[in-house]
Amino acid sequence: QAKSAGRNTMRFFDPTLQAIANAFIAFELDLRQGLERQEFELHYQIQVDDAGVNTGVEALLRWRRGGKEMVPPAQFIPIAEANGLILPLGQWVLETACAQLMRWAEEPGRAHWTMAVNVSALQLAQSDFVERVGRALGKTGANPALLKLELTESMLVGDIEDVVAKMKAIKAYGVAFSLDDFGTGYSSLSILKRLPLQQLKIDQSFVRDILIDPNDAVIARTIVALAHNLDLRVIAEGVESAEQRDFLAGIGCDAFQGYFFGRPIAAGELPKD
Ligand code: C2E
Ligand code: MG
Ligand code: MG
Ligand code: MG
Repeated sequence: QAKSAGRNTMRFFDPTLQAIANAFIAFELDLRQGLERQEFELHYQIQVDDAGVNTGVEALLRWRRGGKEMVPPAQFIPIAEANGLILPLGQWVLETACAQLMRWAEEPGRAHWTMAVNVSALQLAQSDFVERVGRALGKTGANPALLKLELTESMLVGDIEDVVAKMKAIKAYGVAFSLDDFGTGYSSLSILKRLPLQQLKIDQSFVRDILIDPNDAVIARTIVALAHNLDLRVIAEGVESAEQRDFLAGIGCDAFQGYFFGRPIAAGELPKD
């Protein structure tokens, strides 16, 4: 029987393990089909500058599994990275975000908005990643100067020369880079100064308790000072209250993102300017 079961099956004697294996296989299968069935959407979360002006959004991927329940990215992105689906999925994100930028180009209130797109380590490692970014821009006609790619510190290990070369080539298009979840990884200062970055993003884990935990406040101050000394801008993510915003503004943070300003939402629900 085990022989005739074919691919996409695993055989266990323990019925509990069998159920877990079956659920995992079903999840992976649904994930693969989700792209063809157009079950993915982008939501957008507003980014605000220190004058309170909306300057752009971050695109955040959403999966409506089987057209029904929403699966959070934390649950499916690691699996998409493990099975390689993140490559076509990431390209879809890039092109969909650029197409959205192009639609906003015609709207006076939103024509200046920037679009931040999360990039996976696997995408960046592709030998043709530079061309892929160029293709997304060319296909949609989006203004490269409004596109910002979010990398994480975990991508800065391994072949750093390759990363720097690709970043420089993409920067030559006019595209900017932001270092996401900053402070949670291990990036060395010597690597940081070599990267053509435009922005550091203070991780939300430091913002959460910034008003009550002196350590978090010190870390945030240090990141702002570091960013400004390297001639980078700094944005804080996970800002949920006016008090957090005021504190971050007080230590020199240039921009903010979080539920206080707006949750990630469908494009149609975003403010008009
Ligand atoms: P991230 O890039 O650091 O995105 C910020 C996450 O924080 C988002 O979670 C966002 O919804 C959430 N968030 C925003 N404001 C607040 C706030 O005020 N409080 C709290 N508690 N959370 C806030 P989300 O959308 O679940 O995404 C989680 C992660 O999944 C992202 O973290 C990013 O690493 C990854 N991700 C999302 N979309 C993509 C994508 O298109 N490609 C890739 N490669 N990764 C993605
Ligand atoms: Mg991000
Ligand atoms: Mg982040
Ligand atoms: Mg984060």
